[in-house]
Amino acid sequence: MGEFLRRLFDSDFMPHGHCYYWQADIVWLHLVSDAVITLAYYSIPVSLGYFVARKRDVPFPGLFVMFGLFILGCGTTHAMEVWTLWHGTYRLAGVVKALTAALSIGTALVLVRVTPAALSLRGPTEWEEANQALLASAAEVTRVNAELQAFSYSVSHDLRAPLRAMQGFSQALLEDYGDRLDDRARSYAERIAGAAAHMDQLIQDILAYSRLTTKEIQLQAVDLRSVVERVSGQMAGEIRAREAEVTVASSLPSVASQDVILTQVLENLLSNALKFVTPGVRPRIRVWAEEREGKTRLWIEDNGIGIAAEHQDRIFQVFERLHGRESYPGTGIGLAIVRRGMERLRGAAGVESEPGKGSRFWIELPGSEHA
Ligand code: ADP
Repeated sequence: MGEFLRRLFDSDFMPHGHCYYWQADIVWLHLVSDAVITLAYYSIPVSLGYFVARKRDVPFPGLFVMFGLFILGCGTTHAMEVWTLWHGTYRLAGVVKALTAALSIGTALVLVRVTPAALSLRGPTEWEEANQALLASAAEVTRVNAELQAFSYSVSHDLRAPLRAMQGFSQALLEDYGDRLDDRARSYAERIAGAAAHMDQLIQDILAYSRLTTKEIQLQAVDLRSVVERVSGQMAGEIRAREAEVTVASSLPSVASQDVILTQVLENLLSNALKFVTPGVRPRIRVWAEEREGKTRLWIEDNGIGIAAEHQDRIFQVFERLHGRESYPGTGIGLAIVRRGMERLRGAAGVESEPGKGSRFWIELPGSEHA
């Protein structure tokens, strides 16, 4: 064996050309054919390598590697055929052939192993069918959704007319017949008016929420400071009534957003910050912004009652409230509007809070260069 390896590259045999009596036509025929086969074989691993590198999710990459090496070995055996026409290095030619044989067995074994799994892969036709089925069900979901939106919109809309009648007549009852009603009757009439007003608010909130889904949205550059100031200006009456202190950072950046939705989101966050404080405590609200990985995060911090960690996610769902209406009025839709609104603005919303230590709600928006 040692002797064999030592003489691996020796050309001590008669070159192959002798077998052909060096007849030019036969030598050329073998030479050209083996050279062409070699080149063709060598081109295959190059193409396979390029394919696997470009198409990252290619199934069974190991098989491609094995197959590529095997084909490389096949090409080299033919290259040796060209070489041995003039050089009798048959030990080397034999070793190249033996290596190719080992690679061929390896490839065959890998192929046997992956065939069952490969059979279960979907072919292009099956993918196309699955894709079509998915598109059809997506279209169906969109249609049903649109129908549902239209339905809930018209139901909500139509419900407001009888509600206004209830509010109006209970009000008329109190005003026109108040002196003839005893305390209990007056309290009943007041409760009817109160319940009708609450339901009216609920319907308005549901309508606002459903409009968020249907509206076509075009992001524009919006100056955060002017929106925050406009919203807090609209709430000036409530801020004054609660003797609240609202501090807005002197510089807030521009963001890619949509004015109406952003206004709705901020109205809900600021009115919650004013509302959810311990009775008798003066609300102190701070608004500022920070840049985070190319996005702008706007913080609305309050000194309110805070929210326990286990509730911090569910309060963003529709109708999720942590308190009775007697302690804190509301419909439970405000934060759902915040989250849905931010999703539509390609942003996000969240909260950091601890019970008794206030809350910091945040919304994140893409920078104004995305407008
Ligand atoms: P609503 O304000 O109508 O109750 P929201 O959807 O705006 O409904 O809020 C859901 C719930 O989240 C509230 O009922 C309250 O329990 C809690 N919450 C919202 N904002 C705050 C806040 N700033 N501080 C403490 N709790 C809050």
